[in-house]
Amino acid sequence: MHLYLHIPFCKQACHYCDFHFSTNTANKRAIVEAIAREILLRKSYLPEGDMETIYFGGGTPSLLDETELHLLLDTIHKHFRVSPDAEVTLEANPDDLSEATLQMLAKAGINRLSIGIQSFHEPHLRFMNRAHSALEAEQCVKLAQDAGIDNISIDLIYAIPSEDHTILLSDLSKVFTLDVPHISAYCLTIEPQTAFGSWLKKKKLRPIEEEYAAQQFEILLRALGEHGYEQYEISNFARDGRYSNHNSSYWKQRPYLGVGPSAHSYNGESREYNVSNNAKYLQAVQKDIIPSTIEQLTLADQTNEYLLTGLRTKWGVKMQKLEMLSNGAFTLQHSGELEKMTRRGWIREEAGILLLTQAGKLFADRIASDLFIE
Ligand code: SF4
Repeated sequence: MHLYLHIPFCKQACHYCDFHFSTNTANKRAIVEAIAREILLRKSYLPEGDMETIYFGGGTPSLLDETELHLLLDTIHKHFRVSPDAEVTLEANPDDLSEATLQMLAKAGINRLSIGIQSFHEPHLRFMNRAHSALEAEQCVKLAQDAGIDNISIDLIYAIPSEDHTILLSDLSKVFTLDVPHISAYCLTIEPQTAFGSWLKKKKLRPIEEEYAAQQFEILLRALGEHGYEQYEISNFARDGRYSNHNSSYWKQRPYLGVGPSAHSYNGESREYNVSNNAKYLQAVQKDIIPSTIEQLTLADQTNEYLLTGLRTKWGVKMQKLEMLSNGAFTLQHSGELEKMTRRGWIREEAGILLLTQAGKLFADRIASDLFIE
């Protein structure tokens, strides 16, 4: 079983971010109490079984103080059987990771950190309106390792506008000195409801060129491969098999419970979406109402979701499962498309498993959507 907690607060808004968060932290304690209440209200959502992963995401969960973190962890332990070797991840920003905070996190049972470094280049950090400095980005990993948390993932953003690839190469060489087992690398995308989105509309920012983004991605793939990182999902790279067990559970379609404003849950048949509004969330949960909308998944939805997430991973998608989920419609609708994609060198089938080739990984989402069933 898998649990996600959405902590919807940030110090400041990064110019590219369209996640749900508020920079007004006045009701942070009340929201945390409501999330604890939601855990109790939803304790029967998942089938019986040990909690294998717990993931504090956001927003910025490293803004939680000791009391708030303990309230959430104690509530989880009270209502679920947590596996003794559960992966407990907390997303953190470098500016929050003081020695004292890291020791508090380690003592509380956080055994994996996902650190939002994004770049080590000061002008790029300022361009994106990140709250931390390049120096903090470099220092926080060592501090975390000294505090005994060595299962660390670093988030990086590539395709940040730049004259050439020098800054990306310099960012990568800094990453490799930090000796972390996991890296998530995301292409800078410009979403409409963000500062970058509004700059784009006003022509104060040029769109990210596809060719530039593809070149940066290829540089990244080569460098990470040379340093022993396995690309186990399009944007995720791990050394020595230290995958994110929590994120892998999403990609493998395992049921999970998500609590907090804007969190999603999945039980195999439907998805639930909590309201993306802190005040509305608080008001509802204080009345013991879960403010969520439910989407029943048709067999076509389930097939398409399996394709979209599974094809991005090194585990691929099982043809037999596609046939079963789609009642045989998958091959019927797509045998021609599958042949064409195989000839183009984008996909391959191995022992009944459909996988993307290295070339296909550049078009993962397009390939999946071309294979969707109706
Ligand atoms: S990227 Fe992270 S820190 Fe920045 S606004 Fe979004 S959630 Fe907050």
